[in-house]
Amino acid sequence: MKIQEIIQEFIPCEVCGNSDISNFYFHVFAHWGSEPFVKCCECEEEYYSKSAKKS
Ligand SMILES: [Zn+2]
Repeated sequence: MKIQEIIQEFIPCEVCGNSDISNFYFHVFAHWGSEPFVKCCECEEEYYSKSAKKS
């Protein structure tokens, strides 16, 4: 699964309505057991990505 597809699941941001894919950022917290998150760079909300975890 491509990072862009993962991020698209969370667009628009539920908190601030950000719908610009370039304003989102995908990252993995290795110290939390490699949990994948998508972060909105506008409001700094973090979304946990279940589908990224599966792939
Ligand atoms: Zn946001």
